[in-house]
Order: sequence, then structure tokens, then C-alpha cells
Amino acid sequence: MKGPFDGGCLCNEIRYHCDAEPKTIYYCHCSDCRRISGTAFYTGVGVSKEGFSLTSGTVRQWHKKADSGKGVTRSFCPVCSASIYLQLEMFPDTIFIAAGSLDDPSALKPNLELWTQSKVDWAEIPEGIMSMEKAAG
Ligand SMILES: [Zn+2]
Ligand SMILES: [Zn+2]
Repeated sequence: MKGPFDGGCLCNEIRYHCDAEPKTIYYCHCSDCRRISGTAFYTGVGVSKEGFSLTSGTVRQWHKKADSGKGVTRSFCPVCSASIYLQLEMFPDTIFIAAGSLDDPSALKPNLELWTQSKVDWAEIPEGIMSMEKAAG
């Protein structure tokens, strides 16, 4: 998928613009991502931080230390609570946008799945993409 692209939350309070091309598009099956998304997994679009900007609204942030000991900060719309993006302390130059927040997510082609050791049986993932039992983050 090529940039630029735009996206936002459900209620339109939060809007963003991204000039950067995605570096990675991944499924994360970790239990944190499952709970925060309310479904089987989180789908993230990793882009360089400089290419990403909020064009409307201010996100609400929530920080948690992951099992690795490194921090994860998740950003939401303060009004409708939609997931917008997350940041990993381990990759400070990257923003992992919630794939479902893109205005046109249909062109995304995920190329990686993480934390397959905690994947639920009802999560269907396309065959042939790179797969990791755990993750670097
Ligand atoms: Zn909203
Ligand atoms: Zn995860």
C-alpha cells in the first residue's frame, strides 16, 4: 500500500494524516491486543513517526508495561474510545496505526503475525505470511 492516507475514529473527533508508506502491517494475537480491540487480534500499520500527524482532536493515552518490561502506549479517541494507534518503547520512531481506523483499509496487505502462541482458534489468518510465536515488543 502506498501513502499518503487518512483516517480517524468513529465519531470524527480524531482525524489523522499519514505521508509515510507502511513499513509493516501485522496481526497481533497477544492477550493485551485482544482485550483492547475487543476481538481476536489487533491489526497494526507501522509507519515512521515523522510521517504521521493528527489533523483534528487530541488522543487519550493509556500506558502499560508489557511482559518484556518495555512500555506500550495506546491512543484512543476521548469521545468514542476508538483505538487510533499505539507506540512501543522499543520502537520509538514508529507509530502503529489501528488498521480499522483508515478511511480506506481495503488496500492493506498484512505481512506478519505476532504472538501466535496466544492466538485463538477462531482467528482466521491468511496462509503464507511471516509468523512469530512471540514478538520483539
Ligand atoms: Zn471518536
Ligand atoms: Zn499485541
